[in-house]
Amino acid sequence: MTGRCNVCGWSDRFLRLDRGREGTVCRNCGSTSRNRAVGHVFARILDDDQAVFRWTYRRTTRVLESSARGALAMYFRMKFDYYGTEFDPAKIAAGEDPRAYADFQKLHYDDETFDFVVASDVFEHIRHDAEAMREVQRVLKTGGYLILTVPYDEQRAHTIQRVDTSGPTDVHLLPAHYHGGGGHTLAYREYGRDLIDLMRAPDFFVEQVAVAVPEHGITPQSVFVGRKDRPVALHPARALRAGSSGPMVPFRLFVALKYRQHPFGPIRDFCPYNFVRGFPQLYRDARFARRS
Ligand SMILES: [Zn+2]
Repeated sequence: MTGRCNVCGWSDRFLRLDRGREGTVCRNCGSTSRNRAVGHVFARILDDDQAVFRWTYRRTTRVLESSARGALAMYFRMKFDYYGTEFDPAKIAAGEDPRAYADFQKLHYDDETFDFVVASDVFEHIRHDAEAMREVQRVLKTGGYLILTVPYDEQRAHTIQRVDTSGPTDVHLLPAHYHGGGGHTLAYREYGRDLIDLMRAPDFFVEQVAVAVPEHGITPQSVFVGRKDRPVALHPARALRAGSSGPMVPFRLFVALKYRQHPFGPIRDFCPYNFVRGFPQLYRDARFARRS
């Protein structure tokens, strides 16, 4: 399968086609079908018809993302006033900046702080997802957007709870299932169509966007978009502007030059936010990957 990556602009063959949303990997930047679906929907909100790499710089647009990894997050960081948070209660307890390590259930930000919140395959790992949703809605500005993906089954009316979280400690109802960076993040549930009810609130408009764009290697999937106080307004999907990828530096070389990063490290686990904060996330994740 060949196509053009709407994250880095590279035209090539996609790899690992059999892994659903986590597959159809771009040979250049390592983005997955899921990453490119998020980029595609984000582009429709911004009405930008270029690859994410070429998006207009919007340095006053404030974006919050959780557990961000890889090329898409790195480009977001370049384009926006970007905040990443990587849940780590031990670091908060040790006195580190809670804004960098808070989880969505308790965000250390003022009301109406962000223009965008991106939560890509994060909510299934949050113990109290309804609480986290209210927090996200709180920190969004009026007219601000939430772009959300989760493992989701359209055929399923009700979310399957894998863990009972009503008490102070987790009680497993089904065998513990871990995924996420390095396979060490517990999945609390598998979402069904009632996800939309979880997102809805009196001042929050929600739309389920069915995405499938074979020319960008985006396999069929749902992206959920919420907007505070305003109806969701998506521009029509447009083809990437001809020639907009231009002459490109291969992604690995770009990372090596910009972040003084080893050019053959694992791209998908690369976390720009923590790396520039001086934390060698890349190597920590590489260790996890080897262990699993
Ligand atoms: Zn790419």
